[in-house]
Amino acid sequence: MNSGKSHKKSALRVNAGVEKPEAVNPLLQQKPDKFRKNHANPREYFKAIQTGNRTMLSQAITLVESTLPKDHEIASELIRLCLPLSGKALRLGITGVPGVGKSTFIESFGLFLIEKGHRVAVLTIDPSSMRSRGSILGDKTRMEKLSVNENAFIRPSASAGTLGGVARKTREAMILCEAAGYDTVFVETVGVGQSETAVAQMVDFFLLLMLAGGGDELQGIKRGIMEMADLIVINKADGENKNRANLAKREYENALHLFPPFTNGWQPSVMTASALYGENLSLVWQQIEKFLHLTKENGSFVKNRKHQDYNLFEETIHQAIHDHFFNLPEIKKRLAKYKNQILNRQLSPYEASQKLLDFYFLSFPK
Ligand code: GDP
Repeated sequence: MNSGKSHKKSALRVNAGVEKPEAVNPLLQQKPDKFRKNHANPREYFKAIQTGNRTMLSQAITLVESTLPKDHEIASELIRLCLPLSGKALRLGITGVPGVGKSTFIESFGLFLIEKGHRVAVLTIDPSSMRSRGSILGDKTRMEKLSVNENAFIRPSASAGTLGGVARKTREAMILCEAAGYDTVFVETVGVGQSETAVAQMVDFFLLLMLAGGGDELQGIKRGIMEMADLIVINKADGENKNRANLAKREYENALHLFPPFTNGWQPSVMTASALYGENLSLVWQQIEKFLHLTKENGSFVKNRKHQDYNLFEETIHQAIHDHFFNLPEIKKRLAKYKNQILNRQLSPYEASQKLLDFYFLSFPK
C-alpha cells in the first residue's frame, strides 16, 4: 500500500482495495435445476417450510410436481415428514365458470380471513392447462393484493399429466402448505365439469359461484356440480345487478330442494355476494362456520376425511397398476397392434382386450 505523506492528496495514490464482488450472484448463474438439486435435502426443505419460507415451499411443490424419479424420492420423504403436521387446515373447494369472479372472490375472501388472523393458501386445478399451454384460469397476475400479502401463498395449477395425476399433486401441495402453517387452503377449479369431482374429493367444503341471469341451463354448470355444492354464492350482486341476483337466489333455492339431501345432515343454501365490493363475505364465512360446527359435532367432518383418505389409497393403487401395465414394453407393442386391428375392424374391442389380458396374466400369473 502506498501511504507516503507526499501522495496524500494525489490522484495517483493507490489504496489496497477490497475484492471486487461478482457482478451477478453466482447461484443465480447456475441452471435453476442445478440450484434446486443443491438444496435437495428433504430435511432442509422440511425445516424451511416450517419456518414459513415461501420460496422453499414453492420449490418443494415443484419437486412434488416433478416427474423425475430422483425428485420423486425426495418429494416422498418430504411428504412423509410433513404429514403429521397436516390436516389441521380448513380445505375449501371453489368453482364456477370462467368470468364468474373466482379469483376476485378468493382475493377478497382471503384478505377478509387474513384480517381475522388466518393464513391462506390458494392452489389451483385447471384441466385446460394440462392439455395445452393455454389455461382457462389465465396466466395474468391474478389476486394481486393477496399474492403480495405475507400471510398468503398462491400456487398456479400443475400442468403436466392427467387430471388424476394433477389432483394427486395438488393434494400433496396441500399437505406441504398445511405443514407450513396455512390454516385455510382454497382449491380452485374451473366449472367445466372435469375437475370438480376431484376437488370435492379433497376438500371439506365446496363452494359454487354462480351469476344471476343464467336461465334454465344453469350457465353451463352441470347439475352434478350443483349437487356437490355446500353453498351456492350468486356473485356480482352489486349495482343494477342486485335485484337480478336476488331473483336468481330464489330460483336456485327452488332447484336445491329437488336435489337429494346430504347424508351429513347439512342443508346447502344460496346467498348473494359481491366479491368486487366485499359484500356479504361475512355471511359466507358464517355459513362455513355453521357447517364446521354441525359436521364436527355429528362426526361427519372426520368421517369425510377418512373416506377421502381411503379413496386416495385406492386411487393411488389404481394409478400405479395402470402405469405399470401401460408402460410394459411388451404391452405397448401389442397395444399398437391391437389398436390397428380394432380400427380396421379385424378384431372386436372385447376380443382384443381379452387377448391382451391373457398375454399379461400369462407373463404375470394371477
Ligand atoms: P374468474 O375467471 O372466475 O376468476 O373471474 P375473475 O375474478 O377474473 O372476474 C372476472 C371479471 O368479473 C373481472 O373483470 C372482475 O373484476 C369482475 N368481477 C368479479 N367479481 C365481481 C363482483 O362481485 N361484481 C362485479 N361487478 N364484477 C365482478
